[in-house]
Amino acid sequence: MIRFTRLAAVAGCLAFLAMTRAAVETPRTLLVEVRDIPASDQVKGARFDYSDYDRVGLLSLVRNTGMLLATPAELEKLQQDGFHAKLVMESPDKLTLYKRALYGPTLKLPSVYHSYDQINAGADELIREHPERIARVQLGETTQYHRPIYAYRISSDARQPQDKPGMLLDGCHHSDEVMGAEIIFTLMQKLVLDYGRDPEVTSWVDRNEIYLVPVINVDGHDIITSGRDPRWRKNARDVNGDGVAGVFPEGVDVNRGYDFNWGQGGSGDPASDRYRGKHPFSEAENRAMRHLLELKSFVLSISYHSQGEVIYFPWDWNGRPAPDDALIREIAGEIAHRITTMDGQGTYAIAPGGASSQSYAWLYGRKGVFDFLIETGKGTHLFAPEEVPGIIAANLEGVKAFMARTKGPGLAVHVTDSATGKPLAAQVWLPHLETEMIDRHYADATFGHLWRLLSPGRYDLIISCDGYESTVLDVVVGPGEWTPLGVQLRPSASAGK
Ligand SMILES: [Zn+2]
Repeated sequence: MIRFTRLAAVAGCLAFLAMTRAAVETPRTLLVEVRDIPASDQVKGARFDYSDYDRVGLLSLVRNTGMLLATPAELEKLQQDGFHAKLVMESPDKLTLYKRALYGPTLKLPSVYHSYDQINAGADELIREHPERIARVQLGETTQYHRPIYAYRISSDARQPQDKPGMLLDGCHHSDEVMGAEIIFTLMQKLVLDYGRDPEVTSWVDRNEIYLVPVINVDGHDIITSGRDPRWRKNARDVNGDGVAGVFPEGVDVNRGYDFNWGQGGSGDPASDRYRGKHPFSEAENRAMRHLLELKSFVLSISYHSQGEVIYFPWDWNGRPAPDDALIREIAGEIAHRITTMDGQGTYAIAPGGASSQSYAWLYGRKGVFDFLIETGKGTHLFAPEEVPGIIAANLEGVKAFMARTKGPGLAVHVTDSATGKPLAAQVWLPHLETEMIDRHYADATFGHLWRLLSPGRYDLIISCDGYESTVLDVVVGPGEWTPLGVQLRPSASAGK
């Protein structure tokens, strides 16, 4: 979940606190379920305004049923006001109440969800049976417990890097937003097992090199899946250095650690849910993602989060849109319109996100990747078992729209040395489109390729590389699939001196 202002959270909190003054005096030891909450009571500022950052009162609100912490007086008031409120559990131990509210009656994560070990074991099985289709790549180790963070590479020959457009799907920057890991694990099996059977899947895999990172925040994910604490969002860093890690609310928000307007994102307060850490890439989880981007250039990516049924895209930078805003918006809309909301009444919304410290801002601003942050599901992070298949299936429809865009339109630029034919990591700049808001794009060093999504039309390009004469081109991008553009750069006269 991302959040641009604290106002909504504060409003929700105040709305609940306003129910009774007893809230500030009596500890909330009751877990209360309220059924059939009218839509008018769920809007912003209303009594049941669900907000992720309000971890005090309302803990979840799924399909008009809310779970909330209350005092006896608050419960009585709810009932007096005509709400269908009933006591679920009473305990002086808050964590027990959170477990009951978020995990369900077993107080453990339901077995429909997978631990990281289970995901990797499932992937191992796929690799054993289809070594040509899927390979594991270790990206790094986690900050606190030094667990391996893996990506899985899927292509027509996964045993070696391919000269093909890179597509990335990642999950669980926020460890309690476990739906991302489930969607990606399901997608992994589909891509490998349906290859050669389903023409659509076969074409996705043949055309692209797809990287899946099911869980970035592996330590946090383990805290969630092992049943220790259902609230855990950040990584497990022992922030205060007292030698005891995994004590709520310790940790660093892994989705506030990237170096694009880093200081303007999240919070500098270690107790905050959005604590950004001490400096950009202070966390090993962020360095693991940076390492992945050094291994492969990506064209498009999705980062799965929960919740809200909305797709955030780059960006709204203090009112200024991204240079590629029109095209990014178009693609976000295509993906969103394929994903049905849980109530079956509509599809996901789209909205630009702020341009700071999160993965989409960094991926787009620094790396040229069109990244979409998808907030899956509505009303909680840990959905009841019966909700999980529907949310996964809905989001796999979104993947179809995402994959449709991996064909273009756009430019497939290939830059080589005119004398030797060797590939060049040349800068490919579209000066009328790519403003100083974003870093320049480069062809990859291994193959000399850059795939650049563009709306059909006419573009100026400046292609340059140290030791070579720059070239200026006027290119027409067609409406169909990738428009190929081979560019040979001549070594500059002074190069050999
Ligand atoms: Zn999130």
